Amino acid sequence: MKKLATLFMIMVLATVTAKAALAGDTLADAKKKGVLTVGCKDSLPPFGYIDEKSRQIVGYDIDFVNAIAKKMGVKVELKPVTSASRMPQLQEGHIDIIAATMTKNAERAKVIDFSHTYFFTGQKFITKKGTVKSLKDLDGKKIGTAKGSTSEQNVKKAVPTATVLSFDDYPQAFLALQQGKVAAVTTDEAILAGILAKAPNKAQFEIPALQISDEPYGLGMRKGDTNFVNFVNKTIVEMEKSGEAKAIFDKWFGPSTLFHLDRTFKITADK
Ligand code: GLU
Repeated sequence: MKKLATLFMIMVLATVTAKAALAGDTLADAKKKGVLTVGCKDSLPPFGYIDEKSRQIVGYDIDFVNAIAKKMGVKVELKPVTSASRMPQLQEGHIDIIAATMTKNAERAKVIDFSHTYFFTGQKFITKKGTVKSLKDLDGKKIGTAKGSTSEQNVKKAVPTATVLSFDDYPQAFLALQQGKVAAVTTDEAILAGILAKAPNKAQFEIPALQISDEPYGLGMRKGDTNFVNFVNKTIVEMEKSGEAKAIFDKWFGPSTLFHLDRTFKITADK
C-alpha cells in the first residue's frame, strides 16, 4: 500500500513538473531557439490568409506577431490552427502564441493568459439580402458558425430556437449559406466583412445591423508564462504609442482597403 502511495506521489509530481516545464519561459526559450511558433488562421482575410501571389500566410494578426518577434530578434514560424484547436495546440506546446482572431473572456482566461486587446469587433450575421431584419427572423432557422468559438456560444443564447451548425471554420459555414443549407452565418463582423469582400456573388448577401456581442481580441499565451506575457503587452502598448499599431490597422482595414472598417479602439494596458 505504502509503495503504491509513493508511486502515485511520484506520478503526480512528474505530471506537475512536466506541466510547469511546458509553461516555462517562452521569451527565453524562443530567443534561444531563434524562432517563435505562432498559431494563426490561414483562411480568414484580412486576419490570416494565404496571399495569392506569394503563397505566404499574411494579415493583421500576422503583422502583429511579426512586430513582436522582430523586437525579440527571432524568426516567426506560422502554424495554421482552427478555433477549436488553438488552445490545446498552445497548452501542448505545439505553438508558443495564438494570433488567431481570438476573443478574450473570463472562461478562456482560466486556461490561458491573454495580452491587452489588440483588435475590437462584435458578433453579427451574414444573410441573403433582405431576409433578416431582426433576430426574430432567425427563429427556428439553421445558423452556421465555427466549432470552439465564442460565436457558437453567443448565438445559442441570442437565438435559442435556432439550430446551430458548427463547421471547422467560417469559409465552410459560408459555403453552406451559398448552398442554401443555412439561413445565416454568424461570427465577428470583421471576419464576416472579410468573407463578404472576397465572395464572388457578394451582391446577394448582406450583414444586417444586428450585433449580439462585443469581441475584444487578445494574443493567447500559456498560463503563467509571465515574462512573455509582460514582454508582449509592453511591445503592443509601444506599438500603439509609436503609431505602428494604427499603421497595421490602416494597412488591412483603412479606407482604401477591401475590408474598410473604422478603428474604434486604442491599445491600452488592462486595468
Ligand atoms: N473571436 C471569436 C472567438 O474567438 C470568433 C472568431 C474565431 O472563432 O476565431 O471565438
